[in-house]
Amino acid sequence: IGEEIISILNRIDGRGYKAYLDLKGSYDFNYFTLFIDHVQRDPFASPSLLRVEIPDHSFPRELYQNKTRKIALEDYISRAFAEGIEKRVKGRKGSGKSGILRIDQGRQEVMERSCVNISPRVLEIRFELGLPARGRRIMGSEAQKLLTRVLPEIVSCSCFYGNLPAREIARHVQGYEDAEHIRQQLVKEGLVAFIATGSILPRESGISPKPLPRAVAFRSPDTITVSLETTDGNLVQGMGIPEGVTLIVGGGYHGKSTLLQAVELGVYNHLPGDGRELVITREDAVKIRAEDGRRIEKVDVSSFIHHPPGVGDTSDFSTENASGSTSQAANIIEALEAGSKLLLFDEDTSATNFMIRDERMQRLVNKDKEPITPFIDRVGELYHDQGVSTVLVMGGSGDYFQEADTVIMMDHYQPRDVTRDARNIAREMPINRKAEAPGKFHYQKRHPRPESIQPYKGQRLKLDSRGISTLMIGALMVDLSSVEQLVESSQTRAISYALYQLARNYPHKNSSVTVKNVLDDLDEEINRNGLDYLAPPGRKNPHNLARPRQYEIAAALNRLRSCKMNI
Ligand code: ADP
Ligand code: MG
Repeated sequence: IGEEIISILNRIDGRGYKAYLDLKGSYDFNYFTLFIDHVQRDPFASPSLLRVEIPDHSFPRELYQNKTRKIALEDYISRAFAEGIEKRVKGRKGSGKSGILRIDQGRQEVMERSCVNISPRVLEIRFELGLPARGRRIMGSEAQKLLTRVLPEIVSCSCFYGNLPAREIARHVQGYEDAEHIRQQLVKEGLVAFIATGSILPRESGISPKPLPRAVAFRSPDTITVSLETTDGNLVQGMGIPEGVTLIVGGGYHGKSTLLQAVELGVYNHLPGDGRELVITREDAVKIRAEDGRRIEKVDVSSFIHHPPGVGDTSDFSTENASGSTSQAANIIEALEAGSKLLLFDEDTSATNFMIRDERMQRLVNKDKEPITPFIDRVGELYHDQGVSTVLVMGGSGDYFQEADTVIMMDHYQPRDVTRDARNIAREMPINRKAEAPGKFHYQKRHPRPESIQPYKGQRLKLDSRGISTLMIGALMVDLSSVEQLVESSQTRAISYALYQLARNYPHKNSSVTVKNVLDDLDEEINRNGLDYLAPPGRKNPHNLARPRQYEIAAALNRLRSCKMNI
């Protein structure tokens, strides 16, 4: 087994790094086939791309019989493979990336990814290896050890059902399926989110998404407690946030933003032990925030911004440098355009003048001098006329009491239902602010122009991510640091591939194609063909991709400096 690879490595040992190119190809090992698809040019470049295919993996069919289970099982295997690496590979040996072995395992979220693919016929694992060198000379013996001793051990311990803890796998798969099952019930029950009693919401720190140790567990208030079903018919209790307008109030530091952040990421499913396994949000939730400085391309913000000085018509508003309030208005319209019917706001990241305009200010600054229609004058209408629900953290102003269907107060990290109190206060202390919306809420749909991304068509471009929040297409960078529901750089990378696919597939001049059409088509293709659909030509079997939502793909398109739209 592996004799062929051994003889190549013996031959090129000690030679210049380029000789590693001879390794390209496939090799038969006893119970798997190794593919070396791409060999890095030098020890400092991105690691080489490898795959193994295991025909007799023996995972029971029922563990991956539908799409939901398949995603969960593949996620489990990627983590088992990563654990196998961690146990056996102690850091790098040699120069640059020498000896680094890695697989694109997820963080706290479990999502569809390209690194593991299972079917009854074969289990495929994609991973990276920094081929070892001393300086720029090939370390043949080290490479031999990694490829013919370490790798088979990792494959053996992580890719065969019999060598893995069956109960842990079942729990992983079932946890994911339960989360999906509950998400489906939200729609039927008229809920936008569910937070199970006992959930742990806060995270260890701003950079660690692990649960905060010794946190106060979430407990649902009786009045808004609902029971939802897991896949095997057990009931779980928790707080159901209903459709409509929901306010989260409470003193500073009492846990409002923590609750909202958990809801934001509740569009994803979480690992067993994360604390948010049963914090479930409808899949179309989009976090809306102010993002001054962003680019805007022909967005109809006229329902929120009317005749600002020096601009005039705002029904196809464009700028290279938006203000806080305008960017927040554009973020709303773009989310609705992409199909969202659930908007999430936090006062911490909102523009005050976009959210409120109180009675005194209305008296001092006349309406004809204020181009902004504050969100408070649209929030109720959005729900009643458009079916768009809002969850809003607002500790600083009671003006929204009138508009709210549900008011939840966070008190020492625990929610209380204060809807009735808020209503009573609104009745006892009426405010005389006037509703100022100039007309009905509306916006015009946009049509992406073919030349938006077309300059890149056909070229072999750099498509990649730098961290979670920067996306690269050739020399173009897109800043996604305010797109808060992205959780992994592999999603960002997948978005850069997705934008490239949009360029390839929309060369026609059909001007009736909307942004939503483009996103739906792409989603359908990924559903049908998996993430591999996103691979640009000449880059089959893409590594390191995790599935982005349509909303984040739209967010990238909207922030791409070359993007051009027609109304
Ligand atoms: P707010 O938005 O109401 O000002 P935050 O949500 O930012 O408050 O929370 C303030 C602090 O309390 C944060 O450091 C957060 O980690 C911590 N915290 C939030 N919820 C809990 C909890 N359930 N148990 C322990 N600490 C918590
Ligand atoms: Mg806060």
